Amino acid sequence: MMAALLLRRDKKSTAAHLKSDLNRTDNSSGVRQLQELLDSVLNPEKPPADTEALDWCKCLIAGEEGFEEFCKTVRSYDNATLCGLVWTANFVAYRCRTCGISPCMSLCAECFNNGDHTGHDFNMFRSQAGGACDCGDSNVMRETGFCRRHRLRTGENVPSVPRDLLLMSEMVLPRFIICIIQYLRDGYTEPDTSAERDLQKVLQQLEPQITFLEELTKMGGAMRTVLTKILTNQQTFKDLSMGQEENVFAKKNYENYLSALKNSGLVSVEEKAQTGAAEPTRGSETGALGLLGAAAPSSSESNKEEDQDGQSIGQRKRVKLSSSTKDPSIMDSLKHKCFLEELLFWTIKYEFPQKMVTFLLNMLPDQDYKITFTKTFVQHYAFIMKTLMKSQESDTMSNRIVHISVQLFSNEDLARHVTEECQLLDIMVTVLLYMMESCLIKSELQDEENSRHVVVNCSEALLKNNTYWPLVSDFINILSHQSVAKKFLEDHSLLMLWMSFVSFFQGMNLNKRELSEHVEFESQTYYAAFAAELEACAQPMWGLLTHCKVKETQEYTKTVVRYCLETLQIWFDAIGFVDELAPNQVTFHLPLHRYYAMFLSKAVKCQGLDLESLLPDQEMLMRIMVHPLQIQASLSEIHSNMWVRNGLQIKGQAMTYVQSHFCNSMIDPDIFLLQVCASRLDPDYFISSVFERFKVVDLLTMASVHQNTALDGEQERPMLEGALTFLVILSSLRIHLGMADDEILRAEMVSQLCMNDRTHSSLLDLIPENPNPKSGIVPGSCSFEEMLSAVADFKAPVFELGGSMQQGMYTPKAEVWEKEFDPIMVILRTVYRRDVQSAMDRYSAFLKQSGMHTTGNPWPPYKERTPLHPCYKGLDRLLHCKTLHIVIFTLLYKIWLDHSNMSEHVLCMVLYLIELGLDNQVEEDKGDEEPCIEEHCHDSWFPGTNLLSNLHHVINYVRVRVPETAPEVKREREPPASTSAEASNFGQNVREAQVFSLVAERRRKFQEIINRSSTEASQAVRPKSSSTRWVPPGTPPQLVTEILEIHESMLSLLIKLHQKLSAKQNSLSATWLEDMDANPNRHAHGDGITAIERILTKAATRSHQSKRSIQEICGKVFPPVAPKKNSPTAKKTMDKEERRQRARERQQKLLAEFASRQKSFMETAMDVESPDTEAAMDLGASEVKESEVLYDCVICGQSGPSTEDRPTGLVVLLQASSVLGHRCKSDEAKKLPTTDEERIYPADTCGAAHDVRLALMQSFFKDSSCLQSVSIGWDGGVYVQTCGHTLHIDCHKSYMESLRNDQVMQGFSVDKGEFTCPLCRQFANSVLPCRPGRSTEVVSWHMPSNKKTSVLVKEVEDLQEQLGFFPTESNLSKEMELVIKDIKNTTQRKYMDYGKNPGSPDNDFLFMYSVARTNLELELVHRGGNLCSGGASGAAKRSCLNQLFHVLAMHMRLYSIDSAYNPWTRLTQVAPSRDNCLDDERPEVPMLFRDCPSLLIIFVLTMPQPLRKEHFICLVRMLYNLQYTQALAALSAKFSPEERQAWSTSGTLKKNAFNAEKSYEALLSHVITELSKVKTVYDVNTDEPSMLSSSVWSPQSIEYSLQQFCLPYLRLSCLLQHHLYGDNLSGCPEEEEFSGLAGCLGLLDPAPQPSNPMYSASCLDWTVSAFDLMSQWCSEVTGLADTQAEKSMTLLVQDLQWASPHLLHLPDNYNTIFQYYHKKACTACKKVPKDPALCLVCGTFVCLKGLCCKQHGICECVWHSQHCGAATGIFLLINASVIIIIRGHRFCLWGSVYLDAHGEEDRDLRRGKPLFLCVERYRVLEQQWVSHTFDHINKRWGPHYNGL
Ligand SMILES: [Zn+2]
Ligand SMILES: [Zn+2]
Ligand SMILES: [Zn+2]
Ligand SMILES: [Zn+2]
Ligand SMILES: [Zn+2]
Ligand SMILES: [Zn+2]
Ligand SMILES: [Zn+2]
Ligand SMILES: [Zn+2]
Repeated sequence: MMAALLLRRDKKSTAAHLKSDLNRTDNSSGVRQLQELLDSVLNPEKPPADTEALDWCKCLIAGEEGFEEFCKTVRSYDNATLCGLVWTANFVAYRCRTCGISPCMSLCAECFNNGDHTGHDFNMFRSQAGGACDCGDSNVMRETGFCRRHRLRTGENVPSVPRDLLLMSEMVLPRFIICIIQYLRDGYTEPDTSAERDLQKVLQQLEPQITFLEELTKMGGAMRTVLTKILTNQQTFKDLSMGQEENVFAKKNYENYLSALKNSGLVSVEEKAQTGAAEPTRGSETGALGLLGAAAPSSSESNKEEDQDGQSIGQRKRVKLSSSTKDPSIMDSLKHKCFLEELLFWTIKYEFPQKMVTFLLNMLPDQDYKITFTKTFVQHYAFIMKTLMKSQESDTMSNRIVHISVQLFSNEDLARHVTEECQLLDIMVTVLLYMMESCLIKSELQDEENSRHVVVNCSEALLKNNTYWPLVSDFINILSHQSVAKKFLEDHSLLMLWMSFVSFFQGMNLNKRELSEHVEFESQTYYAAFAAELEACAQPMWGLLTHCKVKETQEYTKTVVRYCLETLQIWFDAIGFVDELAPNQVTFHLPLHRYYAMFLSKAVKCQGLDLESLLPDQEMLMRIMVHPLQIQASLSEIHSNMWVRNGLQIKGQAMTYVQSHFCNSMIDPDIFLLQVCASRLDPDYFISSVFERFKVVDLLTMASVHQNTALDGEQERPMLEGALTFLVILSSLRIHLGMADDEILRAEMVSQLCMNDRTHSSLLDLIPENPNPKSGIVPGSCSFEEMLSAVADFKAPVFELGGSMQQGMYTPKAEVWEKEFDPIMVILRTVYRRDVQSAMDRYSAFLKQSGMHTTGNPWPPYKERTPLHPCYKGLDRLLHCKTLHIVIFTLLYKIWLDHSNMSEHVLCMVLYLIELGLDNQVEEDKGDEEPCIEEHCHDSWFPGTNLLSNLHHVINYVRVRVPETAPEVKREREPPASTSAEASNFGQNVREAQVFSLVAERRRKFQEIINRSSTEASQAVRPKSSSTRWVPPGTPPQLVTEILEIHESMLSLLIKLHQKLSAKQNSLSATWLEDMDANPNRHAHGDGITAIERILTKAATRSHQSKRSIQEICGKVFPPVAPKKNSPTAKKTMDKEERRQRARERQQKLLAEFASRQKSFMETAMDVESPDTEAAMDLGASEVKESEVLYDCVICGQSGPSTEDRPTGLVVLLQASSVLGHRCKSDEAKKLPTTDEERIYPADTCGAAHDVRLALMQSFFKDSSCLQSVSIGWDGGVYVQTCGHTLHIDCHKSYMESLRNDQVMQGFSVDKGEFTCPLCRQFANSVLPCRPGRSTEVVSWHMPSNKKTSVLVKEVEDLQEQLGFFPTESNLSKEMELVIKDIKNTTQRKYMDYGKNPGSPDNDFLFMYSVARTNLELELVHRGGNLCSGGASGAAKRSCLNQLFHVLAMHMRLYSIDSAYNPWTRLTQVAPSRDNCLDDERPEVPMLFRDCPSLLIIFVLTMPQPLRKEHFICLVRMLYNLQYTQALAALSAKFSPEERQAWSTSGTLKKNAFNAEKSYEALLSHVITELSKVKTVYDVNTDEPSMLSSSVWSPQSIEYSLQQFCLPYLRLSCLLQHHLYGDNLSGCPEEEEFSGLAGCLGLLDPAPQPSNPMYSASCLDWTVSAFDLMSQWCSEVTGLADTQAEKSMTLLVQDLQWASPHLLHLPDNYNTIFQYYHKKACTACKKVPKDPALCLVCGTFVCLKGLCCKQHGICECVWHSQHCGAATGIFLLINASVIIIIRGHRFCLWGSVYLDAHGEEDRDLRRGKPLFLCVERYRVLEQQWVSHTFDHINKRWGPHYNGL
């Protein structure tokens, strides 16, 4: 009743009335009234789209003052000290590393700009997932970075909120919120119900309501407090959630909610009570563990006993929950106790609607809310992830989840709080396990049948789509907090759980080598696998490691290592690994190994732990080493093409494994682990394992022939190289063995820079992030920048001639090349093999340049290593073991004998190993090792293990097993005793000679160690498996044992190799060693010879015995070494002399050949009587004939004249251009506006001015006459350019035909006639026919004439009267018309039709002569605006103006000027003015208004061709008279009336003087007098004071002004003469341009006339009385002046000078542009474009690609390019900082003119560093625009389909 009453009243007054009721002490009636009102208003049974309810709420809350006002009032009580602005994806925000405490810190643009970050390390970024502003939050950032607003606002100054202000809100909002919740409940349907599920629709309807909530949060702290109270109040929730008892709707609604809970796998509290489980006291205290309960009843048995079978394994995998203290059964219940909880529940159910997320985040500045919300979030965490896994749009949802969670978990206090109270860590780990358990499969590694190990299946969506990332990212985020990480490390059950999680990734994505056929389908699962290991395993590992850096944390490390080893042990057992790998398998994923390795490394490096205490027994170490070693061998196999059948993806894996983002977490830990194993295991065992794993054991025999069952012949060499390289890396790498962080950074940087010059950003990207990528902090004391400047020089960005733009680059300093270049590090970090070569090439280039090594190719330099950390000293034993020495000896021997499969690289690595051994001596602990060797004296190759003493040990005999066919066999057969008999003389030797079998060696050692370390090990299994696998690969029976006689030591072999390399016997003299010591530096760089010398020197200095031995060997005279013919090394090291000799021979041979070829050519040329060859042969003789130009056809290669029948043409590019039209008066470029106040006005451009002028004329004068008085083509004129190449036009046609058939590759459109010049590949689209015959005009046409001017004038007149001569139809004339058509098609119609009758011949006439004008004007622009620099002949060659003129003239012949209207008559004769007989017709344009250059071109083009030069000069002279008169008229208009009077009077006196007709004073006076006849001409001007009237006109300034006025005409005439007659343009200083040009045109005596500087008048040449003629011209003007005074003055005083065209002036800092334009609205669609772009020619702002501004199917950018630049557009893409060029139907990315501090572009603003204008680049851009060379210089064009 009451409510109905209230409803009818107006809302505002109701609100006021209720409010006063409620403010009474007894407010019960008010409350009741309000409740009733709300009951009827907020009825959830009404459709949500009904906004009446919302209006009511607003009114009720606001009370009488209105909602807007209310908002303002509430806002004034805002006590928030945080900004907290929430943004969504794509928002532009800032991050300052200097100010940030958390690396996730971000600021809104406003806060950033209002804070002081000068000199800070900040960047702008585009938010991916959304975020919130942290300004004011001292937990996240330093206070110094707060903006002014959030720094000052302390909150205390804000008055407290009056009680009644928010009273209504407190009462109304709970009802409003439950109403929303009810809508949400009502709208939700489960995905499995048959009804169409349309969550989006429900959300859309609710949008106004949620938006309202969001608006409320923006009212500031006061309102947020109210909302927090409501959202977290349990009583209100209880009262409202279920609705009133009798309300059926509410009941059903509530049941909906319960079923939604149930369907989510969550049990409601009620049901829970039934099952009798203890109800938790708080929802948030429920653990996550029980979540697994439903699917996996936990087993208390060890996890080895999981039962598994086949496919269903994924679902049935069980995880042991080791801790019984955590009750797993409570997880599945979720009790909502307040609005916030249920609201979040629905937010999740609805998959995080954006609006709701924003609302929830907007509330965060309220601390109470933040805590409650975080708890609620954690409480729902498992549920969130379950929903995510099921979501169809997991990407969007992931982003939204992280958008929230990052805000909550980045705060350490809060994260610790929820870890302690809500078991956040348990929840996260459990949920991670739960997730991964959904996609487990049986591991096929090792024992496919019996494996009990399970791994994640990388082809599952969860992994492929990276669905787990929000969870992992949260986990990494909370682990970055020390307090949280400690909790994790202290909790053993969690660690156990975590290790079992990691083991899910151990061995995933197994590769099996395809042996027979190419794999059918290249699986791309490896992306998922590498990403998963990096993100889910490695990143948390790095996170944990950052907290294990000091002694105090030793215990943590010990625990982790223990569980790691335990889990590894379990893994080995599960996969059934005993001691031998299953063949042809490799997995790159060993996260357990890597956890173990990295914790070991940290323990030794930072925590001072003893390595020994963390290592397992020898047997375990031997197992641990197997898989990482297999990866190294596989890398080599992959590069040796042994895995080709597995497709390209396997190479992808090999590359990813070593790539900069992965190497830290993959190859580096692997190598380190192998180093640890090598330092602890028996070195002989280790070395033989390596060679066996690399499958090159068979190769390591002294025999000349061997069999290899494992490898193809061509794979042996690369695999041997791989094995040796690996050994070198293993024994020399120190990354985890003693290098400091600074040293590592330096080494990484140097190796990357040595491969290639790098940009700053690519270098940053290539340096492995260490240790924790998220921290953004480089370890060590040295910053990246400091290190960079220490090792590299900066090369500023330059623009290369080819047009490609270079960025700022860093290149290694010279001393880095000299001292620090480390080829081993380069090899380790090389992703592409070519990079190693590149580094070596650069290295040798440096050596050549610096003169350190000039002949041949240098070898990789040897580099001394950082000393080993004492813990790893054992690694050196690798270099001092007999097995390695035998290998070295064997290889040296084989190289010396030139065995196949040996290479320079093999030798290089062998020498490297020797040198490493010499430099890293093992301490004299031989004592305990020697006896051991003695015991098992299997091999007596060497007496001990020390390399230094083994070097000089001579091996006399070696027993080898070879096939019967081997050469050794034959040789040895001769003495029959030697094969089988143990002859007494051989006895000693034979016993000494040993079969060397690495396989046997390794097996023996292995057994030995196993027996020693673990006798109790199950021996029953091992022999069985070993016996099946350790059979030496198929020993063929035909092998026989032979004994080779060797008699060499390593030293002697080295010396022999030295001789071999230097190709000199006795290359080392006996005294050589003494000479050596003098200059030790010589050894650092060089080739193999240098390396051997260096090693010998080292051996000699370190051991007397070696020294003696070397001297002895050198002293001997060796028999000459037979030089091997095909030995590459011999060739390289050829003696200098010999090489010079060879060169000389080669040269002589070449000369002889040349001479004979020439002779035979002469002979054939004389034999054959061919006109072609004759013409080509002697050009001199052709002088006799009519000189005809010969053209080479670039297609058929023939050369000949262009004829009527078979015309030749120039390859040309026609393009429409508006460059001329964009010229301005001012030489300064217009400024790009960057504020609302600034604007660009286009009216003062050349194009606009000409349009105005023509329109003005057309309004007074006859249209046809107007169209002959101006030129067009300033906008949209056609520019013709050529590359200078010619071709037969018929050849061109067939060429086009062939292009048409082959349309695949081109970036151009053949259908539009586009092609590239067959010779120079320049872009072109037409062919301009060349006129047949004479090149330049025959001399006679050039002759200076001595005819009188009056005669010439008459002759010209007669010529003009001649009827148009129509050439007979020929191929040539057809082609000429075709090119005319092409020209017309080049530009748009609107640029051709200026006349009043579209399509009339007058229009065509104007357009045609304007084409000539456009090309002449553009050439002037290209010459810098004047002709002072003279005629560069190069420019003329490339010009096609002469041919163009000819074609145009041919076409113009179609038109004739009506003789009655021929301007020539009016130019040269005083005729009674034709009284305008036809009154209805408009008058013709007065001569004084006509454009002289246009007239000149018209005359030239319409007269019979070729035009004699004397006639041309005559034209120029007559027109000069007119031009000069125009100048006088224009000048006189600038005078003040007084001045005009004075000049008029003074001039009158001179009128009768001699030569008055050439006196400017007399003429000026005459013009003034004539024009003054009608008062109004000058009258107009007196009103507006002329600019120059204040200054007094002197004769000098008058002369200057006249010259300036006439100069454009003279320039154009001169240029025309240059092209028509080939006259040279002579350069001159700028101030003498006038006289220079006048002289050139013959207007002025070429001799300078210093006496008379007033030469502008002396150029005049009158054939009739000057005064009469002038009077006539003036009268034409005065005739109309009385009516159109003002207009005629405008037409008279035209300014002809235009400055060079410029692009807009850009601000220095890109941010200025970005801030203004990235959120500016488009003027057309009024929206902020998604991709805003800016025209750099005119400043127009457009919506790139926007459908909003698309018209006629053309997007705005393309449309603008057509109108602004006649299809050429230059646009700056605001959001990318990149410039794109549009040219016709194509576009290309030009690059950026804004570079960062390191001279680099930042496309798409990815890095967000400050960008600055690169003036040079911008100039290049402008120059390309002005010179129309975009098409030629930029290469990557693509069609834009009008879609830009
Ligand atoms: Zn902010
Ligand atoms: Zn701020
Ligand atoms: Zn800062
Ligand atoms: Zn040809
Ligand atoms: Zn060309
Ligand atoms: Zn524009
Ligand atoms: Zn637009
Ligand atoms: Zn738009």
